[in-house]
Amino acid sequence: MTAGEELYKLVAELYPICRSITGDGLRRTLEVIDREIGGLEVSEVPTGTQVLDWTVPREWNVRDAWVADAAGRRVIDFQVSNLHLVSYSTPVRARLSLAELKEHLFTLPDQPDWVPYRTSYYAERWGFCASRRLVDSLPDGDYEVCVDSTLADGHLTYGERLVEGQTSEEVLVSCHVCHPSLANDNLSGIAVASRLARLLAEGRPRYSYRFLFIPGTIGSITWLARNEDHLGRVRHGLVLSGVGDPGGFTYKRSRRGDAEIDRAVTHVLARSGRPHRVVDFSPYGYDERQYCSPGFDLPVGRLSRTEFATYPEYHTSADNLDLVGPAQLQESLELGREVVQVLEGNRRYLNLRPKGEPQLGKRGLYGQIGGRSDAEERQMAMLWVLNQSDGEHTLLDVAERSGLPFALLAEVAATLEEAGLLAEATS
Ligand SMILES: [Zn+2]
Repeated sequence: MTAGEELYKLVAELYPICRSITGDGLRRTLEVIDREIGGLEVSEVPTGTQVLDWTVPREWNVRDAWVADAAGRRVIDFQVSNLHLVSYSTPVRARLSLAELKEHLFTLPDQPDWVPYRTSYYAERWGFCASRRLVDSLPDGDYEVCVDSTLADGHLTYGERLVEGQTSEEVLVSCHVCHPSLANDNLSGIAVASRLARLLAEGRPRYSYRFLFIPGTIGSITWLARNEDHLGRVRHGLVLSGVGDPGGFTYKRSRRGDAEIDRAVTHVLARSGRPHRVVDFSPYGYDERQYCSPGFDLPVGRLSRTEFATYPEYHTSADNLDLVGPAQLQESLELGREVVQVLEGNRRYLNLRPKGEPQLGKRGLYGQIGGRSDAEERQMAMLWVLNQSDGEHTLLDVAERSGLPFALLAEVAATLEEAGLLAEATS
């Protein structure tokens, strides 16, 4: 099985679970993630806890929900798809006329066969989602409605996995885990982030990597509130979401706009040959909104494929297992790994023979590359690294200025270091 196929399998396993911003579906999802990567630390924050300007809400759980016609036949059924129930619906048991029922029904007029995804976290009500075609076909008459849910004091749950590196400086990778049966918006990010965590944990990276699996908005706000004293260690961050659809990549810059993560992802995308867009920060989107709020202003960007809300399947039943695919997931994982490689390898060096060009030939650095098809590019890479290594410029600076791939520059820097021509700048 390819890595992409394994990621897809994980998406498919998580797909049926009814997740929300709190509740047992979220806990079950974290259990699966822990099985995948190990060492997941789960936090339970009680209802009513003040977190920044917000309050942790009551916990929502649902056993069953349905709308039945006069004959007792379930015409809308939560058991068929959890999208049929508006998330955070309050419990209800009632008999209603069709007109009364329709006040609680949500459809997509433009997509008559799709079921919308709707939530009502902070306004107490109940509702059902269904296809326009189904709602239009309902005959007049009485309908029985049941939402067997609980909305009660409990906890908000989130998970984090710290992969310890050689330093306590951190790279934050965050994805939301609060959407029910939606594959791209939610599960693709979870799958790619989980695998990235597992791969990093196989070695001992330079940075420590903190992976957050949190409910959107309230989860990142809660995490920020509880970790405010430690945010100084966050050097780079990435929100991963919507990375399984077939579209090109979208990178949204951090609020700072020129953070190292912004430059690293931009460089990797530009060199990748893959279709992509780099867009400026805006105060809307996923949890980058919270990380990049002015009181924190963390260097956190967002990596997606097609930008959220711009594809028709977004927040509908069509964001399903057909929208995401193994090849796309694998490509997103590879891109994430390339970004990690840049962050890990981005150092400043000192040319130890800075007066004139050092003679590469007598050190075997000229001859040894003869015959290699990339010889000329390697040669250029060495000259660039030597020339720019004045202790001021990072390898990413060199990559941007020279147009050469970062990986090649890092490789020749290691060769030059071995040959005694280069040393890492320590201050
Ligand atoms: Zn969403």
